[in-house]
Amino acid sequence: MALTTIDMHAHTTASDGQLTPSELVRLAASAGISGVAITDHDTTAGVEEAMQEGKLAGIHILPGIEISTVADGQDIHVLGYYTNNADPQWQQRIGELRETRVNRNHILLQKLNALGLELTLDEVFAAAAHTTVSIGRPHFAEVLIQKGYVSNKQEAFDKYLGEHGAAFVQPLRIHPVEAFQWIRDAGGVCVLAHPGIYNNDSLVERLLDARPDGIEVYHSDHTKEQSIRYLQSANQRGLIATGGSDFHGISEDGESFHGGLGSVVMPLSTMEELYNKHLQRK
Ligand SMILES: [Zn+2]
Ligand SMILES: [Zn+2]
Repeated sequence: MALTTIDMHAHTTASDGQLTPSELVRLAASAGISGVAITDHDTTAGVEEAMQEGKLAGIHILPGIEISTVADGQDIHVLGYYTNNADPQWQQRIGELRETRVNRNHILLQKLNALGLELTLDEVFAAAAHTTVSIGRPHFAEVLIQKGYVSNKQEAFDKYLGEHGAAFVQPLRIHPVEAFQWIRDAGGVCVLAHPGIYNNDSLVERLLDARPDGIEVYHSDHTKEQSIRYLQSANQRGLIATGGSDFHGISEDGESFHGGLGSVVMPLSTMEELYNKHLQRK
């Protein structure tokens, strides 16, 4: 069974993952799955390298992205697959999203400093030295841990960086329905990511009414009951049901943030469904 499965959600150093695209692909190959998606936050920078390594490792690479959006004040993630990454309009659009993230870093730093925490952007950039594109809250967390302000990442998010933290900055973001359109404009296929973590199924239903191509039914942070419910939504609406681990790496204490690579997989036929949708769109 394992030889025909794909993990459709994983992050690399192109955003906030710990492994380079090549390392991630090799780990996927050794994990015994036959494919892995590259879905970094607001960037496709890791896709090309992963494709090359995928050829060497003999596994399928599903090119993707995970776009950060907001609806009703709630962070909503939208997965995009098979976008044409040579499309200048597409690259410009996601480039602007990354710039928003940079501005957010400046405001976040000011808030932390105002709370009496002494750190600088240089230190955050140093913590992100192994990252190529998106510098964000995980790197702030690393510096806060290094400086002894908190003892681990969870505490950094709970106390300062997370939605209920003292220094939280709500970034300026596009609406998920806009992200659906951007992905389609670039010839891609759009999927509402991990609906279970929003704790807001009426919002999820409204977003599904806007007709993305798919919904991430299976995810490391979903309960079995949630997956069953979202599978019903997918079937009722004729949406593609996808799933993935949302692997980011392995922390110092050996725990995978979200889930282990290959811990949530779909049959390869799901990738084909996405590909066929993409072909219709070209
Ligand atoms: Zn996400
Ligand atoms: Zn993710």
